[in-house]
Amino acid sequence: MSKPRGSRNTLSPGGWQISPHAAKLTRRHRAIARADPAFEQALRRQTLYPQRIDALIEGQTNFIGKPCDRCGSVKRRVFDCGCWSCKQIARPIVLDGRNRLAKRWEATRSRDGYEAILDAKRREAAGDCYRVEIGDWSAQVYPTGRLAVQCQRLHIDTPDLSTVPKGHLFELGMANPELVEIMRTAGWSV
Ligand SMILES: [Zn+2]
Repeated sequence: MSKPRGSRNTLSPGGWQISPHAAKLTRRHRAIARADPAFEQALRRQTLYPQRIDALIEGQTNFIGKPCDRCGSVKRRVFDCGCWSCKQIARPIVLDGRNRLAKRWEATRSRDGYEAILDAKRREAAGDCYRVEIGDWSAQVYPTGRLAVQCQRLHIDTPDLSTVPKGHLFELGMANPELVEIMRTAGWSV
């Protein structure tokens, strides 16, 4: 017996385990705020928008707040104050009146394009690449377009040259014509 009688490992889910923070407002916040005015007041002190808490208690998912910096819309989400229309664009799910998916996601590329990319990834995983050696520079051009570059003299070993900051890459290219030649061989427009 290493524990006192009646001790528990897990906390039972009770109302007050939802803390009165307004960062993310969920349906459990709504239920508690409807039942407990102290909780509601605590939530109001956490947010700039009293209308957000009114909307939460009414069961709405949006309210009128500050205009969005990006699109100028004043409609905001109760859940996290995010701009309603910008969030809709980021996650374009259209629901019908019964909360079912009304519109499917649109394909971003054709079946052939998708399979070509998948094939390139498979070939890359299998080790298929085109090797280039110029001076003390060596490089591998992979089917997905990734360009890995190594140079012992300058202690360069990058698995993906496209992740190198552009200004840095420009300076390197000015000082090392071999690198520019490698980039041309890989199909970069330099
Ligand atoms: Zn917006």
